[in-house]
Amino acid sequence: MTGHPKFINTLPSFHAELKSRISLYFDKKGISTAGGIHSYFKSFVFLATFFGIYTFILFFTNILFLQIILSVILGFLIACIGFNVVHDGAHGSLSKKKSLNTLAAFTLNIFGGSHYMWNVKHNIIHHSFTNVDGIDDDLELSPFMRLCKAQKINKLHKYQHIYFWALYSFLYLFWILVSDYIKYFKGKIGEFSYKKMSAYDHFIFWGFKAFHLLIFVALPILTMSFLTWLICFLVYSLVAGLVLSIVFQLAHTVEHTHFPIPNKITGNMEDEWAIHQLKTTANFATNNKLISWFLGGLNFQIEHHLFPKISHIHYPEISKIVKQMCNEYGVEYIEYKRMRNALASHISYIKNLGR
Ligand SMILES: [Zn+2]
Repeated sequence: MTGHPKFINTLPSFHAELKSRISLYFDKKGISTAGGIHSYFKSFVFLATFFGIYTFILFFTNILFLQIILSVILGFLIACIGFNVVHDGAHGSLSKKKSLNTLAAFTLNIFGGSHYMWNVKHNIIHHSFTNVDGIDDDLELSPFMRLCKAQKINKLHKYQHIYFWALYSFLYLFWILVSDYIKYFKGKIGEFSYKKMSAYDHFIFWGFKAFHLLIFVALPILTMSFLTWLICFLVYSLVAGLVLSIVFQLAHTVEHTHFPIPNKITGNMEDEWAIHQLKTTANFATNNKLISWFLGGLNFQIEHHLFPKISHIHYPEISKIVKQMCNEYGVEYIEYKRMRNALASHISYIKNLGR
């Protein structure tokens, strides 16, 4: 097999039929697929709250206990900004205006990530080859975790259902301080070679990495103390890492999702792309409005994977159409009623894989 796996075309195509039903929904309602004012409001609330609290911690209090409590909230807000602002912007679903989507995706750079690497890792690799071992970088936590049967097992994995909490917490720190640089210097994400970066892309990468260190390392060390900064930095980074990891893992690595393998000779996947997405993705807590609001619709991952360019604010409505079609075509629609059911399923899934 050479190159990347290919999805087969089926006739009649499930995807084509689903797309036409969804576009009919938007035509009938006469509404845009973008988030618009709803998403602008959310983006403003999350960003303003984050920087308000951050400024308060740096300049207006020196009570360590309060700084730590507020850092926990900062960590949660970083994850929310990731879900609602960066993620939607990068998919082009936040606004009808391209410039606003670009700006939203760009926010990631301020928080130490790289919008360029995210676009390749998430939009191109993860969304195209979801749960395909060796390509989907979200499954790559070796040697610490075994996330699908195709991956080699080691002695450590026996305990992965216990230590994953700690490991997941380091995701954000590892991402901004280590893995972005590995991707940058290798010119690859896993085995996936990405398009050569332009001079502008290099400038943005290094410029914002430096800006992040200035705002989140140098400045707080100057205004607080080294130790206070270190405690707060670790607290919000670990909370952000844990929330981000858990939300992304619950959508794909649970007991009911599949991990399809391409044909060794032809490189073909066994399903058409949309069916592949339905087999590899799960929803959770879709009736919980609070979870849906904070997670930017990432509890509706099925709809997100099928229609990444449609804003998450429409997922509750279009999920009815997707579910209906799955019923008609006899395709499984993987859904966990509550977030804790999905979490329990993730834990039992990784526990079994570690045996
Ligand atoms: Zn996405």
